[in-house]
Amino acid sequence: MKTRYRGALPLDQAIDALLGRSTANLLPTELILALIEYEISKDEKKAIFIDGFPRSMDQISYSLYFRELMGYRDNPDFFVFIDVPETIIGERMKNRVVCPKCHVPRNLKLLRTKDIGYDKDTKEFYLMCDNPQCEKARMSAKEGDDLGIEAIRDRIEADKAVMQTLLKMEGVPKVYLRNAIPVAEAAQAVDPYELTPAYEYSYNEKEGKVEVTETPWTVPDEDGVPSYSLLPAAVVVGLIKQIPGALHL
Ligand SMILES: [Zn+2]
Repeated sequence: MKTRYRGALPLDQAIDALLGRSTANLLPTELILALIEYEISKDEKKAIFIDGFPRSMDQISYSLYFRELMGYRDNPDFFVFIDVPETIIGERMKNRVVCPKCHVPRNLKLLRTKDIGYDKDTKEFYLMCDNPQCEKARMSAKEGDDLGIEAIRDRIEADKAVMQTLLKMEGVPKVYLRNAIPVAEAAQAVDPYELTPAYEYSYNEKEGKVEVTETPWTVPDEDGVPSYSLLPAAVVVGLIKQIPGALHL
């Protein structure tokens, strides 16, 4: 890092901020750039996606000239925007659970595991981790997730400001993806297997087992229009479809 890093904050302090040893200093963008450059240098001739960059207003100029900064001036690049209604982010957070052993995330309502448990004391259903090594560990919610999107309101607003600025930037090709589709338009635009299902559970006392029902998940978008949420694979297909255009192929 000594040969790559350039910045005002001394390198050892910047690394302390990175490793969470110090909250005294914000992680400088200059260090992030040096780290990315190092990672890229390890793999020649590969396409790379950088998730969540730029994340703040001061990173926007860096993102516009990112390939120049990395020494890949003649390589094509593009921005990818994903439009996800806040209502969907909120619901995904509220029902999110993680495995206490392997920490894999799932979602009680939207991304279930194979085995579902029922806690008779609390009358609650819970997911059991699919990882064989976890021996059906009971997955549980993370602290703060029940607050939903309000727990990350600052982050959401910061992201929104960055995206709105970035959308106006000329010169870099853009790919636009959407997570939600109005229910009224779904029939002609997508197939049912592209939609995120919602799971509901009931307990069959007689047989002592949990029964699962699956319906397409309907959620109002930010304007209150009833919408479906696309499964990740369907959004990826949208990405693949637009990449040749973004690369002028
Ligand atoms: Zn697990």
